[in-house]
Amino acid sequence: PIFKQAEFYITVKSAEKILKPVYPEVAFLGRSNVGKSSLINAVLGKKNLALTSSSPGKTRGINYFLVDKKYFFVDLPGYGFAKISKSERLKWQKLIESYLLQSKLLKILCLLIDSRRDIMESDAQMVDWLQYQEKPFFIVLTKTDKLSKNQLRQVIKKYQDFFPDNHILPFSIKDKKLIADTALFIKKALN
Ligand code: GDP
Repeated sequence: PIFKQAEFYITVKSAEKILKPVYPEVAFLGRSNVGKSSLINAVLGKKNLALTSSSPGKTRGINYFLVDKKYFFVDLPGYGFAKISKSERLKWQKLIESYLLQSKLLKILCLLIDSRRDIMESDAQMVDWLQYQEKPFFIVLTKTDKLSKNQLRQVIKKYQDFFPDNHILPFSIKDKKLIADTALFIKKALN
């Protein structure tokens, strides 16, 4: 395995409690239900480390996982819930913003996008914003097992045209090779 050991570390729900930089970090971000928890679990070779399908309305926080005693995997709360109050949205924004501002050891951010969907306004905005913040990130297209080979080729091309400056990786929890590719890409960025 590319990562050998992983444990839940802490959940942080307010900006003041964000951890000071200690270990190299990779952070994960995407619309809710994109497959973020599934990807974190798969890459770490664990079944239930990150909880899947966290429902909207719950107080969502930043989950830290300590990996191989020397990296942090940082699970950022998902965005794009249809029904969310303005105050919830502002809280979310403040938390993510604070994280990105303070994360001096953030080596790479993994932006997850559902491969079956068209490019969504919220994802395009997120890409703009990450570029503006000058944060290094790559894009993972999730759930590619739902596409035919031909569809997948077209989708990858579409995203490459749309986001020419970013590395784009296909991903499926059902494909060991794609899981290993993603894990390796992350590991290289962390070192
Ligand atoms: P999160 O809200 O972004 O953490 O998304 P989850 O990891 O909870 O996944 C949302 C739903 O998509 C769940 O029902 C997962 O089983 C499903 N899912 C996640 N990844 C994949 C994948 O690669 N392929 C397929 N077919 N389903 C997936």
